[in-house]
Amino acid sequence: MAQQEDIFKKVVSHCKEYGFVFPSSEIYDGLGAVYDYGQNGVELKNNIKQYWWQYMVLLHENIVGIDSAIFMHPTIWKASGHVDAFNDPLIDNRDSKKRYRADVLIEEQIAKYEDKIEKEVAKAKKRFGDSFDEAQYRATSPRVLEEQAKRDALHQRYQEVMNAEGGIDLEGMKQIILDEEIVCPLSGTRNWTDVRQFNLMFKTEMGAAAEGASTIYLRPETAQGIFVNYLNVQKTGRMKVPFGIAQIGKAFRNEIVARQFIFRMREFEQMEMQFFVKPGTELQWFDEWKKRRMAWHQALGFGAENYRFHDHDKLAHYANAATDVEFKLPFGFKEVEGIHSRTDFDLSQHAKFSGKKIEYFDPEDNTSYTPYVIETSIGVDRMFLSIMCHSYCEEKLEDGQTRTVLRLPAALAPVKLAVFPLTKKDGLPEKAREIIDSLKFHFNCKYEEKDQIGKRYRRQDAIGTPFCVTVDNQTLEDNTVTLRYRDTMKQERVNISDLRSIIEDQVSLTSLLKNLK
Ligand code: ATP
Repeated sequence: MAQQEDIFKKVVSHCKEYGFVFPSSEIYDGLGAVYDYGQNGVELKNNIKQYWWQYMVLLHENIVGIDSAIFMHPTIWKASGHVDAFNDPLIDNRDSKKRYRADVLIEEQIAKYEDKIEKEVAKAKKRFGDSFDEAQYRATSPRVLEEQAKRDALHQRYQEVMNAEGGIDLEGMKQIILDEEIVCPLSGTRNWTDVRQFNLMFKTEMGAAAEGASTIYLRPETAQGIFVNYLNVQKTGRMKVPFGIAQIGKAFRNEIVARQFIFRMREFEQMEMQFFVKPGTELQWFDEWKKRRMAWHQALGFGAENYRFHDHDKLAHYANAATDVEFKLPFGFKEVEGIHSRTDFDLSQHAKFSGKKIEYFDPEDNTSYTPYVIETSIGVDRMFLSIMCHSYCEEKLEDGQTRTVLRLPAALAPVKLAVFPLTKKDGLPEKAREIIDSLKFHFNCKYEEKDQIGKRYRRQDAIGTPFCVTVDNQTLEDNTVTLRYRDTMKQERVNISDLRSIIEDQVSLTSLLKNLK
C-alpha cells in the first residue's frame, strides 16, 4: 500500500514537472481543488476527448453531439432536483475549525475495522505459514469476529441513517460519530458541531442591478443541457428513437473533501451521453451500454483486470438500474464512469416545470410517449489520472540506470514523433526540420536539438513520445535516419520516405477505434 501511495505521489509530481498538470493560480499559492493543464496535459486531454467523441458520435449513426451553455435557466436545477437534493452532510470540528463530510468520516471508520481484520489475518498467516487455513481463521478467530461484529453493526446503523424516511437522518449521523468516538485528525478532539446539509452548486448572479439580478448556478453536470435540448435536436435532426445526444463540457461542484489531486476537483470536465429509448426497452439498452463502454475502456490496453463494474444496491428514486465503471488507481478501485438507467424522470420533470409537452411520436405504432433514458457519464480528468497512473513506469535498465517512461497508448500521447539532429551543424538541423515539415500535417511532431541524444530520449520517454528519430551525417548521404521505439528502446535504420507509413498507423486514433468491435 505504502508503495502504491508512493507511486501516486510520483505521478503527481511528474505531472507538474513535465507540463501535464499545474495547481491553479500557483504563484498566488493555488486555489483549492482547481488545476490547470499544461502544454503536454492539454494534448493528452484533447486526445482523450477525441477518443470518446469519435467513438460515441462518429461510430454511432444514431448519436449526435451538442455544446450547451454553462449558464442555464435557474428553474432547470429545481426541476432536476439539484436545488433541493444535491447536498453533502457536513460536520465541523470546533477546535481545529476543520470541516468534514460526515458520511466520509463514518465510511473511514468502517474501513478502519476492515483494516484491523486484514491485519489480524495477515499476522496469523505469517505465524502459521503454509498450514494456514484463512477461511477457517476468519470464521473462528475471536478477534476477527469481534471486529467484524463492530463493522457490521456500524454498517447497519449507517445504512439506516442514510436511508431514513424523509432523507438522511442528520442527528443520527452525529450520534454515530459520537458513539464511535471518531476524533478530528487535526485537533484530536471530539468537539463536533451538528451535521447539516450543504448544497454543492456554485451560485452567481446574472444582471447588473442588485434588485433585478437573478441567482443562477454553474452547472454541476452537463446532462441537463442535453435534456432541455431534447426537443430541439430530435426535431431538427429528425432523430428516431433510440438515439443519443453527447456532450463534453465543464461542470462545477463545491466539493468539501477535495482530495487526491485531479480525482475530485471543484471545476472539472465531463463527457456525457443521454440515450433516449422506448419505455420497456431500457434495461436491454442499459446492458448494451455497459458492454460498449467497458469495451471502450479496455481497448486502451491497460488490462481487463484493472476494471470492474460496481452495481449500485441503493438506487436514486428515479433510477431503475445503475453501475459504475471502476478503474484500479494506486488508492484502490475507483469510479471513473457512471452508467444509469434514469427512466423518464428528467424529461417528465422538465415537461412539468416548463409547461411544454416533451414527448416522442413513434411513427411505427402511432403512439406518443416520454422516452426513457440511459446515461453514460465519465469525467475527463479522472480518466486522465487513471491513464497517467497506469502509464507511469520506472524501469531498471541493463546498465543499472533507471528510466522513467510514460507508456501511454500511442494514440493518446501528446507528441507522436520527436526529431533530433545529432549535432547543431552541418545542415543537420535543416534536414530535421525538413522531416518535421513533411510529417506535421499527419501527427504531432516536436523538434529538439539541446543536450546529448541520450538525454533527449529520456525527456521524450517521460512525456510518453512513442517514436524518436535522429538525423546524422549519413542522413545527408542516403536519406536514412535512426528510428527509436519508446517501449523497447530498439533502434533501426529506416528511410525517411517510410517514416509516415511506419508511424501513422500506430499513433492514429483510427487504429485504436478499429480495435473496438
Ligand atoms: P463521486 O461519487 O466520486 O462524487 P459521482 O457519483 O457524484 O462521483 P457523477 O455525478 O455520476 O459522479 O459524475 C459522473 C462522473 O464525473 C464521475 O464518474 C467522475 O468521473 C466525474 N466526476 C464527478 N465529480 C467529479 C469531481 N469533483 N472531480 C472530477 N471528476 C468528477
